Amino acid sequence: PHLHFQVIALDPLCDDGIEGADPHNFPGVALQRLRAVWESVLPDPSAFAGLPPGAVTTTGAHADPVLRQRDLAARRRTVLGSSLSLSYDDPIHMVRGVGAYLYDDAARRYLDTVNNVPHVGHGNRRVANAIARHSRLLNTNTRYLHGEIVALADELLAHFPAPLAVVFLVCSGSEANELALRMARCHTGNDGVVCLEGGYHGNTGGLVEVSQYKFDGPGGSGPSDRVAVAPMPDAYRGRYRRDEGLDDDEMARRYSDDVARAAARLDTAGGGPGVAAFIAEPILSCGGQIEPPPGYLDASFRHIRRAGGVCLADEVQVGFGRVGDAFWGFELQGVVPDIVTLGKPMGNGHPVAAVVTTREIADSFANGMEYFSTFGGNPVSCAAARAVLAEIRDRGLQEHARTVGGGLLEGLRKLTADHPFVGDVRGRGLFLGIEFVRDRDSREPFPEACTYLVNRAREMGVLLSVDGPDHNVIKIKPPLVFGEAEAELLVETLGAVLNESALAVR
Ligand code: PMP
Repeated sequence: PHLHFQVIALDPLCDDGIEGADPHNFPGVALQRLRAVWESVLPDPSAFAGLPPGAVTTTGAHADPVLRQRDLAARRRTVLGSSLSLSYDDPIHMVRGVGAYLYDDAARRYLDTVNNVPHVGHGNRRVANAIARHSRLLNTNTRYLHGEIVALADELLAHFPAPLAVVFLVCSGSEANELALRMARCHTGNDGVVCLEGGYHGNTGGLVEVSQYKFDGPGGSGPSDRVAVAPMPDAYRGRYRRDEGLDDDEMARRYSDDVARAAARLDTAGGGPGVAAFIAEPILSCGGQIEPPPGYLDASFRHIRRAGGVCLADEVQVGFGRVGDAFWGFELQGVVPDIVTLGKPMGNGHPVAAVVTTREIADSFANGMEYFSTFGGNPVSCAAARAVLAEIRDRGLQEHARTVGGGLLEGLRKLTADHPFVGDVRGRGLFLGIEFVRDRDSREPFPEACTYLVNRAREMGVLLSVDGPDHNVIKIKPPLVFGEAEAELLVETLGAVLNESALAVR
């Protein structure tokens, strides 16, 4: 239905001296970043169509995505706070998402292994339709009777073991954790919190206080006196290691003893605030995709409960089937927390989050002060969350995460088995990590390798992210609709970049 007609100045490209060059084969579509090069050898073909010069080219500020993007970045700097960051030195202007892929303003496709919020796929129709339908029908608050909120609570609770039986709906992971800490303090009468090194639990003042990743990071002001930090239960590069001949039981014992020691530092007997809560992710995300040794949470929970505190599992990143072998991360450790917080994937991008707890804790919290969150639990958000649960169920996404993630983990391990800079490949389901070290003996972190890899993969159309206190772990946490073909593309791209000699000279 249409004709591609392009004049090409052949001379500079038909250099017979270039081995393997095919003088008759030029790309019909070029990468945006190579545009200037191609335009320099492709004369304007407008005259062949009898049109004025420039009529059939796409040059000119109005049509040039690069210029548009620069303009957008400048306007953003003017009107938004500079503490908001952008990924990549040369940021991407995204305009569309479909399944496990994102598209930029030049229609370039990227495989997305970064965004765990669009859990059931970018642009999911069922979720979008539920939101649209309920927005037209009714959007109000929890002070009226409504079927959606009760249905959502029922459907969520079907995924939880007893005695977790009460749901509070909020709008973000931060709001969920903030509420959970209030409940813990109300229930125990204590004020102190034990948290883990490398942990992040939200953006409010109260959550920065329990997020070592933030309070000991740039701009942070160190730990407050109502917080005690326990070391990351990292069997690869932590204080107790698998390669030191320690088995899982011994590592779980040692790391959970550290939790007991942290709790003791908060003890009222020593003038401390008492232990209200232990807050931890079942797999540490900002910590660098670290799965604690089996038995760690069980022993830690016992220590905390003995100290008078409650145990809070932050499932904001790992929940809703992502880990494959279980619906929730805490189930991998065979424990039942006292409070569980949910967020990110719960509305596939629509802001809905939750706290799930026991009747006993919920009753302690009902001390006469009304609890109300204006947007929390509105019918539109509830409909979005119900659509997410339905998609996970109907498309078997937990099982999908288990099989695709398992295959990907195996593929990544095979790919990197002999690579001197890859120290550890780990994770569960579609929540994986690749740790980079300068050499396998010293295990010295190699963050520059990660930066190189992330930037090169982006050029090849694959989005990756980096985390861990030393910025040396590549994180893989794609939408759960990520399939075998995507896993193959990812392994192939990583393989190509890992083979680049430039990686070694970072
Ligand atoms: N907990 C964890 C583990 C998180 O990763 C995050 C967000 N990165 C939060 C809580 C806070 O969630 P939100 O940004 O929705 O407030």
